[in-house]
Parts: sequence; C-alpha cells; structure tokens
Amino acid sequence: MAYSDKTKGIYQETLKGIRDAGLFKVERFIHSTQAADIEVEFPVGSTLKKAINICANNYLGLSSHPDVIKAAHEGLDVRGYGMSSVRFICGTQDIHKELEHKVTEFLGTEDTILFPSCMDANAGFFEAVLTKDDVMISDRLVHASIIDGIRLAPAIHDTFKHSDMAHLENKLQLHADKRLKVVITDGVFSMDGDTAKLDEMVVLCEKYDAMLFLDESHSSGFIGKTGRGTHEKCGVMGKIDVITTTFGKALGGASGGCVSGRKELVEMCRQKARPYLFSNTIAPVVVSGVLRVLEILSSNTERRDKLEKNTEFWRKGLKEAGFVLKDGDTPIVPVMLFNAKLAQDVSRDLFEEGIYAIGFFFPVVPQGQARIRTQISAGHEIHHLEKALEAFRKVGKKYNILGKTKEEIIQMYGN
Ligand SMILES: *Cc1c(COP(=O)(O)O)cnc(C)c1O
Repeated sequence: MAYSDKTKGIYQETLKGIRDAGLFKVERFIHSTQAADIEVEFPVGSTLKKAINICANNYLGLSSHPDVIKAAHEGLDVRGYGMSSVRFICGTQDIHKELEHKVTEFLGTEDTILFPSCMDANAGFFEAVLTKDDVMISDRLVHASIIDGIRLAPAIHDTFKHSDMAHLENKLQLHADKRLKVVITDGVFSMDGDTAKLDEMVVLCEKYDAMLFLDESHSSGFIGKTGRGTHEKCGVMGKIDVITTTFGKALGGASGGCVSGRKELVEMCRQKARPYLFSNTIAPVVVSGVLRVLEILSSNTERRDKLEKNTEFWRKGLKEAGFVLKDGDTPIVPVMLFNAKLAQDVSRDLFEEGIYAIGFFFPVVPQGQARIRTQISAGHEIHHLEKALEAFRKVGKKYNILGKTKEEIIQMYGN
C-alpha cells in the first residue's frame, strides 16, 4: 500500500493544524441560480435558507440574465455541447474567432486570444513571451494566478511596493540593462478594491521602454464610463500592451479568459502558451453567452451605471454604521475585521440574518488582515442593500466593533 499510515498521518496532522488555527475553509451549497437572492444549504444537510448574496463576482447581474441564457441555449443547440479538442487541433469554431474580434473591439486593443480561464491566460503569457534576459516587475499585491505565471517564466522577477510609483521607477532604473521589461499589475485589486495608477504607470513604461501588463478580471464590463475597464477610467485606452481578463466574473460569470493586446504578443501566445496549446477550448455554449454579454454591454451603460449608484449607497451606509473599510470607489468593499476567527463569526451571524458574505483570511489575504469582502452588483436592488446594512449594523453591534478603529478592534480580538 503506497498510501501508508505514515503518509495519511502527515496529512491528517496538517489538516488538523489548519482547523486549529481557525483557517479551515468550508463550502456552502447554493441550490438556486446565481443572483441577488439565493437559496443556500449550510451547514450541509440543513434545510435551505434564503439569503441575499453580497459576495459574488456577478457585478453586472448577468450570470442568470435571460438574454444570456437564451444565447447560450442557441449556442448549445447549433454548435453542440463540447469540442473535444484544443484550439489548434480542431477546437476552433467561427464563434471563437468572432469572440476574439469582439473582445478586441470592446477593450480597444489590437488582437485577442482566448484561454480556458484567466488563470490559464496568466499562467501561459509570461513563459510564452519572455526569456532569461528579460525582467518582470510586479506590484506586490497582484493576483495569485499572476504569481504562478511569473513562477513558470524564465525571466528575472522583481517587485515594487503596492501602487508605489517611486519604487516602481527605482526598479525600472535598476533593471535598465535587461533585454525586455514588463511591468505587471491588476487593474482593480481583488482583495482591497483599489485601482492601479495606470496613467502614471503608462508614463513610466514609456520613459523606460517597458511593456505594461494589466489583469482586468475585476474591471472588465463595469469600470470606466462605458465599462471597458481601468484603462478607460484612467484615460489610457490603447496604451496598455497586454490585458488579461476573465469571462467568469462580470461578463456572464461562466468561465474562460483571454490575453488581449499587441498583435505580436497575442501571436506569440498562439504559438507558445501552454494552456492554449494543451487545454481544451472554451465550450460553444459559453462562447455564445459571452458574445451576447458583450452585445448588451456595448449597446448601453445602464448596468454599470446602476452598479455605480448601488456601490455609492453601500459604501456610504457601511461607513455611517461605523465599520472600518478599505477606501476606494469600486464595487469591492472590504469590511476590515483583522482577526480570522472574528471574520468567520461575523460571517456566520450575517448568514443567520439572511446575508451571505464570507470571511477572507490568510492565505487569501495577508496575515492579520482578515475581512469580509462585500461585492455589490447591478443585480441588487436598494431593498437588498438596506436589508444587508441592517444585518451588518446588528452584527457589528453584537461584536462591539461599530465606530471602533483598527487598533481598537485588534486590541479586542487580536490579529
Ligand atoms: C478571478 C481572477 C482570475 C482568474 O480568473 P478565472 O477565469 O476564474 O481563472 C485572474 N486574475 C484575477 C485578478 C482574478 O481576480
């Protein structure tokens, strides 16, 4: 027996350690579609509970939109369920190409290549375009999938302090001798909800001849006046060399991602990116759904406008209630609790009040920075948000954290 008692014991000990530290993650089962109102089985085996979801990446409320579902049905009926192939063998339908064109148009880039997910796009990009003579300079808070992509690439890796432009400039000077330089950032940072200083980054990249890489997973579809993303918000559309993004969040929420940007970089990915070469093509049903999403978003800005209003209402409400928030203006609104157990207790009590928002703690966020990350959607109505605020106030009062500073909360609960 290869899975010996010794082996088993090692894993049991490790898992016990995770549990004892209060860091064990459990899943809650949703029995409904993804929407503002959901039905949840939690704990497992209990009767279904109705709840308001305020932690989905369903920013535009399109995950269960009837038009998107209809388009997906049509795609399923006409193009079939699966392609049973990677793109370059026999996994490219005309609609895959059409989606690449539409994404290019939407983001204002030169070309686009689809990937099975944005995780794959990030995992494949750097290795495909860089050599050991190049350097990758990343913000210290970039998404885990970018970190994995960086690990797979042969180029040298360096970092700059989060959104610190002087530090970035130092690093660009330090690496002036490298063949190619890539500066790497998220557009909207997923855990804090703050926005990259893209306008300044574009200037620095031009000054030091560096490419700019931008992950727009938490931006595409709703950030910027017409929802094109952080580059639109910062007034630098057309100036970003590489954008990666996901179709698994605001853009319908199913799955899939892409690399969009300079023609040569996209072509390099088509020749060399391993997740593109070795993982299955996006299913036709998803491609059809995303095509419809882009059509909806290109025809008007109703949804992102509603999301902006909802977000303002929510941030103001939480602030007035006396919670410690991370500043910003995006629909990612972290309620800071600092202590992992407190984050889980607050989450559990909110659920009792019919509000679904889970606690985030190490290793998803840095140690001592546990929080409840709330995410607002155009699928929310004001009555949803009012009910959620009422629950937050009630639970906040129970734990005596309303109006308290970071230091006071840490003093009470530790971090
Ligand atoms: C969610 C996310 C991803 C991964 O997207 P998938 O398509 O689900 O793999 C990548 N980058 C960032 C910044 C994300 O938030």
